[in-house]
Amino acid sequence: MLKGKTAVVTGGTRGIGFAVVRKFLENGAAVALWGSRQETVDGALAKLRAENPDWKVIGMSPDLGSLQEVEAAMNRVKEQLGRVDILVNNAGISARESLYDYKEEDFEKITDLNLNAVFRCSKAAAVLMKEQGGGVILNTSSMVSIYGQAAGVGYPASKFGVNGLTKSLARELGRDHIRVNAVAPGVIRTDMVAALPKELIEPLIRTIPLGRVGEPEDVANAFLFLASDLASYVTGEILSVDGAAMT
Ligand code: NAD
Repeated sequence: MLKGKTAVVTGGTRGIGFAVVRKFLENGAAVALWGSRQETVDGALAKLRAENPDWKVIGMSPDLGSLQEVEAAMNRVKEQLGRVDILVNNAGISARESLYDYKEEDFEKITDLNLNAVFRCSKAAAVLMKEQGGGVILNTSSMVSIYGQAAGVGYPASKFGVNGLTKSLARELGRDHIRVNAVAPGVIRTDMVAALPKELIEPLIRTIPLGRVGEPEDVANAFLFLASDLASYVTGEILSVDGAAMT
């Protein structure tokens, strides 16, 4: 489904991002996997190359807090892989402090990675995509971007912002043949969810109509569809992949 395409996936070292990288490689794309530390990037690359030595995958660890570093890394991807057709903005962190304990610097930290870095990476990629005649930008939102969340306000606030970027950039970049969509996962089995207390997770699972947590691959399948030409007339969409969960 992605033969001849090249993709950048941020936060590609584990969890949902790693599943997206693998799914894109299985479907014929060349992938640049980005992570926060070169050591974890190298670990993920080794795992993928052991799985299939023919997969074309490279790794980088730019600071997503710096537009200059992001632009330099995006240009390096273009030099090494030839093009940048698809960007998946996936890197993210979460926190659940109550508002009364929430520190201003923690709000800024979560917003800077979950939202501002999506702006930086999208800006850097869009310049290259426009020159090439088009591309696809995909963002990782969350089900809490629809309902909000009863603690840890920085996380849902950042994801509401991601939806705003998605819908607005779809309208701004459509004329440059760049589609922009987001996937809004529910409760997905990754380290982020493993870090949540059992008392919180178990009752949550009982409310999910499909009766289970999602797997990273469930989310990767949605990204594959949106990245592919099957979604050629889909833009500005927030696709829920959450088993119809409602928090
Ligand atoms: P995870 O913690 O397993 O992986 C997070 C990824 O982000 C890792 O690759 C990590 O290296 C990267 N990352 C973290 N801090 C970074 C930084 N400062 N700079 C660059 N990269 C950094 O999490 P996950 O569950 O796979 O989450 C991936 C995305 O999916 C996030 O945007 C998250 O908000 C979203 N999401 C997850 C769930 C879920 O249930 N797991 C639900 C909804 C949305």
